[in-house]
Amino acid sequence: MALIHPTMKIKPREGKRARAGSPWIFSNEIVMDAEMKALDPGEAVDVVLDDGTPLGTAIFNGKTLIAARLVSSEPGTALDADFFAARLARADAIRARLFPTPFYRVAHAEADGLPGLVVDRYGDVLSVQMGAAGMDVRTDIIVAALRRVFEPRAIVLRNDFQARTLEGLPSLTALAYGEEPGEIAFKENGATFLCDPMTGQKTGWFYDQRENRAFAARFAKNLSVLDVFSHAGGFALAALAAGASEALCIDASEKALGLAGKAASASGFEAKLGLRKADAFEALDDMAAQGVRFGLVIADPPAFAKSRKDIEPAARAYRKLARAAASVVEPGGTLVLGSCSHHIDAARFHAECAAGIHQAKRPARLLRSSGADVDHPVHPHLPETAYLKALVFALD
Ligand code: SAH
Repeated sequence: MALIHPTMKIKPREGKRARAGSPWIFSNEIVMDAEMKALDPGEAVDVVLDDGTPLGTAIFNGKTLIAARLVSSEPGTALDADFFAARLARADAIRARLFPTPFYRVAHAEADGLPGLVVDRYGDVLSVQMGAAGMDVRTDIIVAALRRVFEPRAIVLRNDFQARTLEGLPSLTALAYGEEPGEIAFKENGATFLCDPMTGQKTGWFYDQRENRAFAARFAKNLSVLDVFSHAGGFALAALAAGASEALCIDASEKALGLAGKAASASGFEAKLGLRKADAFEALDDMAAQGVRFGLVIADPPAFAKSRKDIEPAARAYRKLARAAASVVEPGGTLVLGSCSHHIDAARFHAECAAGIHQAKRPARLLRSSGADVDHPVHPHLPETAYLKALVFALD
């Protein structure tokens, strides 16, 4: 294909990861001449190596560390509605094989060939996050492609997340198409859940824990369950659907607990589900002191490390949480610990959880170590983007 975009040159001997298959090219790896500096954030570029070998088409942003993200190994790829529709349809085809109903993450950014673009599908409502300028400037094209592929009733832009500041993008929530969707009911792991794509957290629901919720629920029969950092009850209601005798959700968000309560009613479990608005650490310490214990405890907090400088305090917080949560597990019970901090890797998370459980004086076995469900694929050359960790321990 002919070069149709401005040419971005990689410096001699640089771009090692990109040449090996990674979609990311860093700002120090490229020739930043006057022409490049004049490009607007998000413009498409044709990437060539120092010797002129073409590497592909990328979206460019001179204001950020990841200066270019390859979207195609062909230079001159037009980033039009046909391009996005083809990528979205390819991503959807994989999910449609794996899930019985269209409730899943349909586009997971780089891993689906759509750098910085996340789309969660709630039936005929789509909730979209754009974490790269190259996607943000193409909002109209992407909305057109989404309409063509999914014929949705509504498309919501949930561009209200912190990482956008790295790309120089503003925070905003908007309805891009259709009418305000309101709350949406859907089935997961045998229970009915409610989510609100306009006003809920992130895109409205955390699909990434679906499979981990199902696994945790296998331990739940006839036990009491504690779900701390419960959000809208994803773990607690899966456990009740699997036969738990009762469950308690603890979260700091009234809105999240409200959705959990509605989900319990819709699932027929309102008599078995308790809801408590509290700080999770304080609630755990109180229960530990009072001798309250549960057969299954899940602690799946928000990301404690939002950037590299948070790594050490976040690691201490994961250790403290593991200790506090282990302290309220019955002898012979099960503890599930989660982390969605991209900056804390799996080995570190494991080490902190093990240390915390040891501090609680609870001999334990690690039964399972896992990540996000399959609708959150990982780009094979970006293993560091596998952000979710979930560990399941059996405690003596
Ligand atoms: N486990 C959930 C996802 C948790 S997201 C699921 O499976 O869907 C993290 C949750 O922690 C959010 O709902 C947020 O409201 C809550 N949260 C954040 N800080 C908290 C705190 N200090 N105490 C209790 N909940 C908190």
